[in-house]
Amino acid sequence: MKALCWNGVNDLRVERVEDPRILNPHDVIVKVALSSVCGSDLHLLDGYVPTMRPGDIIGHEFLGEIVEKGPDVRYLNRGDRVITVSIIGCGKCWHCENGDSSLCDNSNPKPQYSEAAYGHCTAGIFGYSHAFGGYAGSHAEYIRVPYADFNCFRVPEGVSDEQAVFVSDAAPTGYMAADMAGIRPGDLVAVWGCGGVGQMAIRSAYLMGAERVIAIDRYPDRLQAAQMKAGAEPLDYTRVDVFDALQAMTGGRGPDVCIDAVGMEADGYDTGLEYWYDRTKQAMGLESDRPAVLRQMVECCRKGGTLSIVGVYGGMIDKFPMGAAMNKGLTFRMGQQHGQRYAERLFEHIRKGELDPSYLLTHRLSLEDGPEGYAMFKKKTDHCMRVVFAP
Ligand SMILES: [Zn+2]
Ligand SMILES: [Zn+2]
Repeated sequence: MKALCWNGVNDLRVERVEDPRILNPHDVIVKVALSSVCGSDLHLLDGYVPTMRPGDIIGHEFLGEIVEKGPDVRYLNRGDRVITVSIIGCGKCWHCENGDSSLCDNSNPKPQYSEAAYGHCTAGIFGYSHAFGGYAGSHAEYIRVPYADFNCFRVPEGVSDEQAVFVSDAAPTGYMAADMAGIRPGDLVAVWGCGGVGQMAIRSAYLMGAERVIAIDRYPDRLQAAQMKAGAEPLDYTRVDVFDALQAMTGGRGPDVCIDAVGMEADGYDTGLEYWYDRTKQAMGLESDRPAVLRQMVECCRKGGTLSIVGVYGGMIDKFPMGAAMNKGLTFRMGQQHGQRYAERLFEHIRKGELDPSYLLTHRLSLEDGPEGYAMFKKKTDHCMRVVFAP
């Protein structure tokens, strides 16, 4: 089959690879219909995620049809149109049973990497390095899905492919950012980053009762989408001082909730020297992540407020304002998405017209155009929000 393979920093190639096979009785094979790029893939392209190997297939947000199933798969059938949650749960371990499936104990067959780096192993993720299990990704014609009964969700009538594909990852990640922040009616929420996850976080914050949501970014088209499609008040951090603007909007108190939908490769236009300090340290391998957004959230958030972090971080950060966080009494919530907990609820919101992720899809390309698609997504040219491949 055809697949889009990682071959090094900024080196993606369309290659012929072997078709996936059922390996375990709980597997299914999905024929991919749509597969989206994701901001977290850029960390792979830029070389910030270790344990990638040449030839690894990337991609983790996808929708397709089940074409084959193992003997232990009970609830799914050939021909089902499904989405698959990007982060794999087994459905049976203590964490999965508690609804925290992205903390699954069993879905990562290569736990040694994350155990060494983090103390405990992480869950497996499709197309996201050998530290996250070495699973083949979805930018391909077919993909193997383990623990399929737990990780695949049938797309209900009334939900289009273009809406459903984002229930793999972008929608539950944004939704969980709002959910774990404990938003209360009347809250003012500030969201850093207006890519797919940020857009979904804005809409979700309103669904949970936020009165005002402020969207912070530098790209005019993304700010415009945040305003027109998700109802946020836009703030261009290249034009205003974010701290001053947020304080002015809140009578000097600061936002109740700050959401980080950016992660480890934050731009630092407004933080000047600090950005170059982080950029240099990251390039020299002295610091793995650039935490400009995190630092700014600690500064801006109201005393006693909550920081909710869904932008991806991988390793160590430097110059973290722990004193401010402690003395302001901030609450930190963070994590990879537990999409298995949210998929049905998200489909329901979509069916009722309360959430429509389909506007994230700005470009539909064939798999052959994979390298160009990622280049466009990375440079954010042609108003690109998300490229979706139709193999
Ligand atoms: Zn993703
Ligand atoms: Zn599990």
